[in-house]
Amino acid sequence: MDLSTPVQYVKGVGERRAAVLEKAGIQTASDLLRYKPFRYEDRTTFCPIAKIIPESSTLIRGRVVTLGGRTTHRRRMRIFELLVSDDTATLPVKFFNQPYLSRVFKKGQEVVLYGVPRLDGYSLGISLINPEFEILTAGGEDSIHSGRIVPIYRRIGSMTPSQMRTILFRLLERLKGTLPDALPEWVRSRYSFPLFEEALTQLHFPSVPPGRSKSEFLAELEAGGTVVQHRLAYEEFFDFQRGLQVLKENRSRESKERKLGITPAIRNIIKSILPFHPTGAQKRVLKQIVDDLCGPRVMSRLLQGDVGSGKTIVAVQALIIVVENGFQAVLMAPTEILAEQHFETLTRYLGKAGYSIALLTARVKGQERKAILQGLAAGETQIAIGTHAVFQKRVSFHRLGFVVIDEQHRFGVRQRAQLQQKGEKPDTLVMTATPIPRSLALTLYGDLDLSIIDELPPGRQPIRTVLRRDAERQKVYAKMRDEVRKGRQCYIVFPLVEESEKLELRAATETARQFQKTVFAGLEVALIHGRLSGEEKEHTMARFKRGEIDVLVSTTVIEVGIDVPNASLMVIEHASRFGLSQLHQLRGRIGRGEDQSYCVLLAGPGVSSEARERLRIMRETNDGFRIAEKDLELRGPGDFVGTKQSGIPQFRFANLVRDRAWLERAQLDAQEWLDRALKAGPPEESFGELSREWERRFGLFRVG
Ligand code: ADP
Ligand code: MG
Repeated sequence: MDLSTPVQYVKGVGERRAAVLEKAGIQTASDLLRYKPFRYEDRTTFCPIAKIIPESSTLIRGRVVTLGGRTTHRRRMRIFELLVSDDTATLPVKFFNQPYLSRVFKKGQEVVLYGVPRLDGYSLGISLINPEFEILTAGGEDSIHSGRIVPIYRRIGSMTPSQMRTILFRLLERLKGTLPDALPEWVRSRYSFPLFEEALTQLHFPSVPPGRSKSEFLAELEAGGTVVQHRLAYEEFFDFQRGLQVLKENRSRESKERKLGITPAIRNIIKSILPFHPTGAQKRVLKQIVDDLCGPRVMSRLLQGDVGSGKTIVAVQALIIVVENGFQAVLMAPTEILAEQHFETLTRYLGKAGYSIALLTARVKGQERKAILQGLAAGETQIAIGTHAVFQKRVSFHRLGFVVIDEQHRFGVRQRAQLQQKGEKPDTLVMTATPIPRSLALTLYGDLDLSIIDELPPGRQPIRTVLRRDAERQKVYAKMRDEVRKGRQCYIVFPLVEESEKLELRAATETARQFQKTVFAGLEVALIHGRLSGEEKEHTMARFKRGEIDVLVSTTVIEVGIDVPNASLMVIEHASRFGLSQLHQLRGRIGRGEDQSYCVLLAGPGVSSEARERLRIMRETNDGFRIAEKDLELRGPGDFVGTKQSGIPQFRFANLVRDRAWLERAQLDAQEWLDRALKAGPPEESFGELSREWERRFGLFRVG
């Protein structure tokens, strides 16, 4: 029996439970030991029934004296009732609609109950309703389940917290003295961490450290703040970061065969296409990118810059360098609309240079597609633009040297690694406007080099954001008409929730029609949404860009990347339904020119306090980083970029918000660890072991 033993062979588990555990991601003894309690109960002291104070959480221990079920007359609810007594008094306990409990409880049983006792209006006494309970079995297990601080686990399948507790108690007993410590000694002593075995034992069966008060310790435990919990969270981060460091190190050893350089001729071409003076930040990041392109190592770089900071033109300059050196390049976008926009922008900028640029989306079919694929394979096409989906399938290149991935935050470590396997190790630049908080950037992109555009193009005015009630609509429409009169354009955005997509689509469609007839009569109103064909979308976007549409009613398809600098007003309907990052992305569609832009958040009554907080933050700041930090705080890391498919690994102990200081320490330590490891021996030997387990623990996450 060791950490790698399959759970099935752990005492008390067996085949059937193992199947259930495996579904929950618990495959080995090690996984089981890492299954952390979600709370603890202090069972060193119980509250005597006679001393119960109603309306506060209470833990009692007693014996079942009577039991029975009945059905209420009025609402036909099934009630199962116990009378439990200890030395001091007797307490009625009621369970609603759980008739099977009559088979669970027996007279004379010793039970532990946890819940909030309430004053019973009917009997004028105190009773406990639907408490959590545990039946203490005779047979020596008493010391596991009471007389100590006990762990409470979330149920997995039909396994109760007490069954889990017994299994873990026995497993820890069994493994005592054998658990290896994976943290290097220098790390452990740096933070005075306990040994792994001690940490696990304390995680599941904590004991109050000598000299500490129990209540203080319990509070710390609940908050994840004990040294044991810190160690386990840290270790998880450290392991993850070590994996990223190894990835990065391996990649940095991959030298590339192509040799790129910059000549005065190339400089002139770049100068001639630039429609404006680049900002200092744009110049700085371009230099970092160029150094990578022209250097001996394969580039893996993240370009981070808030919405509207001007990432596209930086990528365009890099593309020119690659193409002028005789290599092909790809620009990938997350949506067709954005791919089309990039195609149009690049054709406009690079038309003069006479490059051959192709647009490849799912929409390009038949002969046209065949011709493009041939052009890429033969090397005649120099720049290809398209959606990610297209390039993940079989597209071959003659001499692919550079891949730019735009607006990509939903891309895990794995996906990027896969991409780089394609062809001859192209240099890769990932661009993102999602201003990922530093802690998350470390997690998602810790193996990438980072370039940041922290400056907006000159002359931009901060967007003014206001909150309006439904009742103030007419004023909002008047403001929109004003803007249009001044030659500007407007967006109205509707949320689209998956469950009621059809309904909402109808609402948006109907609204657009109504607008055209009423409040915006005489203006040009159009509708764009995800259900339209690629062609229709492109047509509408092109008209909007040319200024032929005054008011664009849209679903969130315009969320990412769209650039129409003349649009100066955005109304967001049901703004309370959007997450912060999404609101920020949406709002980023305006404020792209030199004129004052306005964002109107519309919200009805009955908005939750969390939603109100989001709207408040939106009004308060335009700073994407602040917004992202807040978003992370409000939503938690799992939800941060929308779904579990965000590419963020799911940590068991560590919490990206609560433990972020540990993440930063772990990252620095992982670098130090790598330096030490490299000094000690050739990399393959030191890293081989790490990579398999790492894949299993962190590489498992998938992206949609
Ligand atoms: P994002 O970083 O959000 O992708 P874009 O690359 O779409 O931003 O640029 C936003 C807008 O700012 C575009 O209209 C672009 O032409 C303009 N822009 C970018 N850089 C500059 C600059 N240095 N000076 C003036 N305008 C710029
Ligand atoms: Mg962009």
